[in-house]
Amino acid sequence: MRESKKDVGGQSRARELARAMRDVQTQAKDMRRRVRVQRKASMLGWLEASMLGHRMPSAAGLIADAQWKRDEINAYCWRCATTRAPFEDLERGCAECRDRSLGIHGVAFRATVRLGRYAPPLSQWVPAIKQRAWRDMGITLGRELGMQVVDALTEGKLARPDVVVAVPVHWARRMLRGIDHCQIIAEEVARLTGLPMASPLRARLALRQTGSSRDSRSGNQDRFLCRRQTLDRNQRHVLVVDDVRTTGSTLREVARALKQQGATDVTLAVCAAADPPRRNAMLRQ
Ligand SMILES: [Zn+2]
Repeated sequence: MRESKKDVGGQSRARELARAMRDVQTQAKDMRRRVRVQRKASMLGWLEASMLGHRMPSAAGLIADAQWKRDEINAYCWRCATTRAPFEDLERGCAECRDRSLGIHGVAFRATVRLGRYAPPLSQWVPAIKQRAWRDMGITLGRELGMQVVDALTEGKLARPDVVVAVPVHWARRMLRGIDHCQIIAEEVARLTGLPMASPLRARLALRQTGSSRDSRSGNQDRFLCRRQTLDRNQRHVLVVDDVRTTGSTLREVARALKQQGATDVTLAVCAAADPPRRNAMLRQ
């Protein structure tokens, strides 16, 4: 009897101990789960901030606060998008571009449409679309650019293009940034103009142009390569969409690749265009 009582007592202590151990294990499991959930939440927050741009301010709000308006169609040169000087005659282009060819041999360069010059606030907003994955600003300025193209078409300042093509970005760069900024802008332009979109090109992962030597630059001549998907036969006049125009070299490289796809005419649409240094100095006076 005594023995069995002792046994029972031992068994119940053992059960208690086992229960306590299970509790400790459950608590530990629970804690690990909570840590995992927290880590996941902060990871998602980071992803959201870095890739979706959710933590950026509202683009529409900023535009309203800054009282920003897109340019009038004759505020800039229809060829190179340089800001018009007072009383400048733009019939054959501005003083910066009228004596030079802007396209490439075999592809007619038609015109450039811009939202504004590359100066604040556009010089703050436009680079932030790609640098901070600011989708909202990309869509908002893309819509404005679409309206700008529609206005130019309506006023007869632009021949109607057949297709919209975004300047492509290399997939590795797009992954790093979490956004394909030109594609987002171009989609809005296509939506507003009712033009179809095509992706006949891909970007080659090239070294950054700034700082690279002349030799490595000449080795990087083909920045854009053709995909197998060619443009349709009736898609000869391409509306190329880029975020910023600086010297026009991107357009020439895109045109060179598009020529292989059968394009005969290009028009450029950009959110902002940088004025040549001479013009900047003149406009400051
Ligand atoms: Zn010009």
